[in-house]
Amino acid sequence: MQNKDSKGMTIKKNEDFSEWYQELIIKSGLADYSAVSGCIVYKPGSYQIWEKIIHIIDKEFKNIGIKNCYFPLFIPESLLVKESEHVEGFVPEVAWVTHSGNSKLNERLAVRPTSEAIMYDSYSKWIRSHKDLPLKLNQWNNVVRWEFKHPVPFLRGREFLWNEGHNAYSNPEELNEDKEKILNIYYNFLKDYMALASFIGKKTNKEKFAGAVATYSIELLLPNGRAIQGPDYHDDGQNFAKAYNIKFLDENSKEDYVYQSTYAISTRMLGVMFAIHSDDKGLVLPPRLSENKIVIIPILFEQSKKEVLQKSNELKKLLQEYNPILDEREDYTPGWKYNEWELKGIPLRLEIGPRDLEKNQVVLVLRHSGEKKIVNINKLEEEIPLLLDKMHNDLYENSKKFLESNIKEVKNFKEFSDAIKDKKIVKINWCDRTECEEQIKEKLEGVKSLNIDLEKNPLYGEMCANCGNEAKVICRFGRSY
Ligand SMILES: [Zn+2]
Repeated sequence: MQNKDSKGMTIKKNEDFSEWYQELIIKSGLADYSAVSGCIVYKPGSYQIWEKIIHIIDKEFKNIGIKNCYFPLFIPESLLVKESEHVEGFVPEVAWVTHSGNSKLNERLAVRPTSEAIMYDSYSKWIRSHKDLPLKLNQWNNVVRWEFKHPVPFLRGREFLWNEGHNAYSNPEELNEDKEKILNIYYNFLKDYMALASFIGKKTNKEKFAGAVATYSIELLLPNGRAIQGPDYHDDGQNFAKAYNIKFLDENSKEDYVYQSTYAISTRMLGVMFAIHSDDKGLVLPPRLSENKIVIIPILFEQSKKEVLQKSNELKKLLQEYNPILDEREDYTPGWKYNEWELKGIPLRLEIGPRDLEKNQVVLVLRHSGEKKIVNINKLEEEIPLLLDKMHNDLYENSKKFLESNIKEVKNFKEFSDAIKDKKIVKINWCDRTECEEQIKEKLEGVKSLNIDLEKNPLYGEMCANCGNEAKVICRFGRSY
């Protein structure tokens, strides 16, 4: 029997992904369950990563003129219901405030599932002329969607944290220019910081955001063969502007509705990153997002203790830009400490004992591969950034290999169905019809479209791999989280 109370990991990733994932989240100290089902506690282990994400992406947003603001958590029902498609998409998951104390409110208030309604009510008052545009506002906030599916920390919950950007433009050209920039900010962040490979595409009509003209998504693949949606971007056209009456006068004093877009990255990405990189020993964190990049473990013997500890403290100071942890505890063996910091995902372990001290060297161990390197102390400052970069690149390459080896191009339904059984994402020439997508969903239970390739289109005369009609696009399908 497995001992779930023991300190280390007991479940293997490739034997039971779902149990392994939940054990990882709790034992590595990332999060905890709370008294509210579906709402987790973000412990410092995960929240400090979220802070880094905010910091890095926020800077990129500001570079393209997006400013932060904050709108109320509550949305009056009358505002929420203005855009009917949008409402239909959210109503089943809305949590309502109905009372203050014991008295019933005149109007129910929704706890925001997303902020279009409340923000666009203000936009309709603020925007008068083309001179007020573009208006690019973003919130870093929390939203509540009362899901009834089984909650999983970070990946699916009733409250999550995110950015919600809401831009308004006087013309679709400017909107499209920013679309590229914003999608690239997210895509590159995943690659350059989270060390995650992903693919961008356009959602099908069936899967697009409620109320949007077009949705673009960045999709990833979890180790259990389930695709999962990462950051997304919605081109709302003039739909919300019409529902919320957001009009402006152009240069010729002609009245028009604004063009809008929204975009988001959420704390779900934390879960995706933990799930993809981590292993049977515990958490593996990409070094650029790790709060403490190094743990120093002095190997202590009675005779040499003083010298080794002294050197360890010197190293801690020398390497302070990596925010090292020095584990000086004497009542634990070095081996016990190795396990603990591996579980917590510190990227680099630095071991130093009396023999190393004599040779003016340390042993560095990379968390993701277990690779050891003996490094002269004088060379440490040179060597460490190289090793951390190597780790980042290794993790990215692993993630890319995993993703690419699990996407299969297929030509007919038999191959489609076989590849799905094999837990692959399939790529097909597709007719781009909702009826066809529904048919696929029915024939292969749980399979849905992920997104449509933006680059390549099928050659003239190709047929849809499902229905045989003329193919219009290349689309990816899979079982999704
Ligand atoms: Zn078709």
